Amino acid sequence: MNLQLKHTLPAVILATHFGVQAGSNSFDQAYSSISEADLRSHVKTLSSDEFEGRQPTTIGEEKTLAYLTENFKKWGFKPGNGNSFLQPVELLRIEADPNVVLSIGDDSFTYKENMVVGTSREQETVSLKESELVFVGYGVNAPEYNWNDYKGLDVKGKTVVILVNDPGFANPEGDKFQGKTMTYYGRWTYKYEEASRQGAAGALIVHETEPASYGWSVVANSWSGPQYKLVQPDGNKGRVAVEGWLSLDAAKSVFKKAGYDFDKLKAKANKGPIAQTLGTTASVTVKSSLKRSTSNNFIATLPGSSAKDEHVIYTAHWDHLGKDPAKEGDNIYNGAHDNATGTAGIMEIARAFASLKQKPKRSVSFLFVTAEEQGLLGSQYYAENPIYPLSKTVANLNIDAMNIMGRTKDISVVGFGKSELETYLEKAAKRQNRHLAQEGHPQAGYYYRSDHFSLAKVGVPALYAKGGDIPVDDETAQYRKKMSVIQRGCYHQVCDQYRESWDFGGIVEDSQLYFEVGYDIANSQDWPKWNKTSEFQRP
Ligand SMILES: [Zn+2]
Repeated sequence: MNLQLKHTLPAVILATHFGVQAGSNSFDQAYSSISEADLRSHVKTLSSDEFEGRQPTTIGEEKTLAYLTENFKKWGFKPGNGNSFLQPVELLRIEADPNVVLSIGDDSFTYKENMVVGTSREQETVSLKESELVFVGYGVNAPEYNWNDYKGLDVKGKTVVILVNDPGFANPEGDKFQGKTMTYYGRWTYKYEEASRQGAAGALIVHETEPASYGWSVVANSWSGPQYKLVQPDGNKGRVAVEGWLSLDAAKSVFKKAGYDFDKLKAKANKGPIAQTLGTTASVTVKSSLKRSTSNNFIATLPGSSAKDEHVIYTAHWDHLGKDPAKEGDNIYNGAHDNATGTAGIMEIARAFASLKQKPKRSVSFLFVTAEEQGLLGSQYYAENPIYPLSKTVANLNIDAMNIMGRTKDISVVGFGKSELETYLEKAAKRQNRHLAQEGHPQAGYYYRSDHFSLAKVGVPALYAKGGDIPVDDETAQYRKKMSVIQRGCYHQVCDQYRESWDFGGIVEDSQLYFEVGYDIANSQDWPKWNKTSEFQRP
């Protein structure tokens, strides 16, 4: 690097960082070309009955991929995966036999009533035979919070019993973790991952409604019927053999019979790492039927004009829940809000990028992932099998279920404070006279419940934001009230369908906002970083 360059470099960074680029004519035209009519038309098509609820591996997938391919070709995009727009994702369907009994000591527990169990392994039978039970508090190993519930513990072949959420939830006023805001250590998915790393044979999470943010029925329903996993070369043998939950009553009874008071041990676990052998054992045999099938991620790329090998990646999941032939009447889960809106959003952003006269310096990719509804599987597959090296992936911008409640004065950032990407978002929000706000229920851990999380986990700074809570004017506030009543209870139900009465103002603004954020990053030389307090960092 010569001296002169050294002198000019900060100015270049400043200029691109604060969006001198984003003031150009071509940018403004592309920005304002993001239109309500196009967004509506995509949402309407993707959520039509003809697409049958966009379930992976069905005709709904074929139609969705065809629709994406047709549009991206029309806009002049290059396939993102060599000469293909598709990245095949092999899925494993595991359906556990519901006739299963979990015995702990002299007690037996019943599937769905007071326990659920299953496996992630590609194995028809897995079992625990008198596996020693160990209470490991929150089951958290977090060096950045100086907290390790497994310290000095050997749980190989044993079954760990774990509290849900993280130690911050029980200590909102204290300095533990991030108070009520859930960290990834609080998510149930983390608990099984850590138990697996520790070599446990089984892992049982104790359900409690408040810290879980949902009732037992949600656990019972989502753990019955077929479960989907990614096919892994090792058949997922690295995972604990048996994963499950105990209802609170079941857990209390187990602790009591073992001579312990659940509430007292929990109070101890809130103060610091705890491990307590319960002096009892668990036995269970889980029988499953297995089936492999192939679905696809869709990826299109706009090659950068100078820093081609550096990538900004937009994500939205194209899939939804399909249809339920056993259901009477309307049986199609159209998934208009979740996530035809997000799919339409990044389609429009892609079209806007393609219309730019001066292409961005860095490459920009549009990744539509499959099987989000089955546990973020398409994005997990991409993160484990990235098409572009993760070390060259500058940022991920994710959209899931856009704002159908009309324009807002704020923009709700899910996982507020995690990365420097918020600087870009804030700048773009200013153009719309909007401000950033923390999401409404940070204790529910929504940052860990959509596809950007798969990329965050492998270190790529990832942003997930959407329309906020403050309506832009009185009329919008009235509309919002009315529409909230109409939409209530439609999450993951057949009534999540397209309505002509939807106000697309918020969707237009959020799409423009995300377009500007991606545009600025793609024209910058900066590598936005995770904030220090984030549980994610680049490797
Ligand atoms: Zn969903």
